[in-house]
Amino acid sequence: MNTTEISELHQKYVMPTYAPGLALVRGAGTSVWDAEGNEYLDFSAGLAVANVGHCHPRLSEAIATQARRLMHVSNLYYNELQPQLAQAISERSLGGKIFFCNSGAEANEGLIKLARRWGHEQGRHEIITVEKSFHGRTLATLTATGQDKVKTGFDPLPPGFVTIPFNDLDAVRRAVNERTAGVLVESIQGEGGVRPTDPDYLTGLRTLCDELDILMLCDEVQCGMGRTGDWFGYQGYDVSPDAISMAKGMGGGFPIGGIAAVPALSDVLVAGTHATTFGGTPLACAAGLAVIHIIEEEGLLENALQMGDRLEEGLQPLVDRIEWVEDIRGPGLMKGLVLNQPAGDLAAALQKKGLLVIATANTVIRLVPPLTVSAEEIDRAVALITEEIDR
Ligand SMILES: *Cc1c(COP(=O)(O)O)cnc(C)c1O
Repeated sequence: MNTTEISELHQKYVMPTYAPGLALVRGAGTSVWDAEGNEYLDFSAGLAVANVGHCHPRLSEAIATQARRLMHVSNLYYNELQPQLAQAISERSLGGKIFFCNSGAEANEGLIKLARRWGHEQGRHEIITVEKSFHGRTLATLTATGQDKVKTGFDPLPPGFVTIPFNDLDAVRRAVNERTAGVLVESIQGEGGVRPTDPDYLTGLRTLCDELDILMLCDEVQCGMGRTGDWFGYQGYDVSPDAISMAKGMGGGFPIGGIAAVPALSDVLVAGTHATTFGGTPLACAAGLAVIHIIEEEGLLENALQMGDRLEEGLQPLVDRIEWVEDIRGPGLMKGLVLNQPAGDLAAALQKKGLLVIATANTVIRLVPPLTVSAEEIDRAVALITEEIDR
C-alpha cells in the first residue's frame, strides 16, 4: 500500500484521535522508512519508546523465540520470565517488588491505587500533582495531569487530585492536609516541554514527604529506562522515591508497563486488590529482559550521556546565535530545544528534510532518539536542524 491508500483507509476506519501524516513501514536502529521508501532519522523513537533502536536484532529475536514457545498465560499461573524481569528492575530501582501492566497510564493508575490503598485506613487518598505534568489519558490519570487541554469535555472528573505549581515546595506545603496520600511528579517533565525538576525541589520534596509521612511517587514513564543516562530519571538526583511508574521504553516497542515500590510498600496491593489480564506475559517479559540486557551489554547508559552531550554541544551555537532559540535542556538523550515561538512549523519542516522530532508544549522541539544513536547520526541531525533554522 502507498501512503495515500493507507491514509484513506485509516481515515475511514480509525477514530481520529491522532492526525498522522507519514506512513512508516520499516525501521532499523535510528532509521525508519515510509511507504515510498524514503528514509528518516527518527529522533522521536516512537515517543521515547524505541530506546534500543528500531528492530534491534536481539530484541526481535527474543520476541520471535518467545512467541514460538509461550506468548501468554494468565497471572493465575507462574511464568518464569516475570520474576526474572521483576528482579532485574528491582535491582536497578527501589529494591522492592514490581507490578506489571501494559501502558504508562495503566502504570500510573496502579501507582495511584497503591497510594490510596496505603492511606486508606487513615482517610488519606488525595494525590498532589503539578502543572504541565502528563500522566496519561484514563480518567484518573488525565485528572492527575496538570494540563487543562486533556480534561476538556470529560467532566465530571474523579475527585481526589490537587494540582499545584511546578518546582514549588511551598505550594506542596500549602496543599498537604490530613487527606493527602502522596505527591506525584515526573523527575523530568516530558510532554510538559522537557523540564527537569530543580534538584533542591526533589530533595526538599523527599524531606517533606518523610516529615509528613506521605508518599513520594515518581512518574518515570518517559524519563525512565535509560533515557537520561541513568536507569531512571530520579537517579540523576540525590533522592529515592517510595514508588515509581514506568512504561514507554521498557519493552523497546513491545507494550509493557509497571510499578516498582520500596520494600515497605511492596505488599500493599495484595491478591484481589489490583489486576490486569495482560500484565507481565511471557512475551512482554521476554522483550523487557532483552531491552535491559541490550542497554547493559552495549553500554547504552554511557552512550546516552555522551550522545546527549554531543547533541547539546551541537545545538548550543543556535541558542547563542538565534534570537528565537532560547535553550537546549534536559539530561542524556531527553533533550528539549526551547523556542520562543510555536515549534510545530519547524518540526514539520524537519520531517520534510528527513528528521523526525516531536513538537511539544507548543514551543519545544523534543529530541529523544534511540539510546543506540551514533555520533554520526547526532551530527546529521544537528546539521539538519541548523540548516533549517538558518534558512
Ligand atoms: C506517555 C506518558 C504517560 C502515558 O503513557 P501511555 O502509555 O500513553 O498511557 C504517562 N506519563 C508520562 C510521563 C508519559 O510521558
